[in-house]
Amino acid sequence: MAKSILQKNKECYLCRRFYNLRTVRGLEEHHILYGRGRRALSEQYGLKVWLCHDHHNEPPLGVHFDPGARRVLEQDAQFAFDNLHGPGSFAETFGEKI
Ligand SMILES: [Zn+2]
Ligand SMILES: [Zn+2]
Repeated sequence: MAKSILQKNKECYLCRRFYNLRTVRGLEEHHILYGRGRRALSEQYGLKVWLCHDHHNEPPLGVHFDPGARRVLEQDAQFAFDNLHGPGSFAETFGEKI
């Protein structure tokens, strides 16, 4: 299993990002790109984060329900990926638009 390229600590990525809170209870792993074969690529390249249940799979905040939160993760993933692999590499690997 690849390691996440977006976070070092095992805590909810969005609790940290939005509220600067450290949430470690009830974490679930989320692959930032999923569907259409992207989940395997997410796994391979470490584009995954730990999320608390509310931020993962629960309306209205969960990334599987809130397009805005999903967008934040996708943009962070693109930034981290291009930083690591070079400008434009995210688009090359995952297709032009996310
Ligand atoms: Zn959270
Ligand atoms: Zn998920």
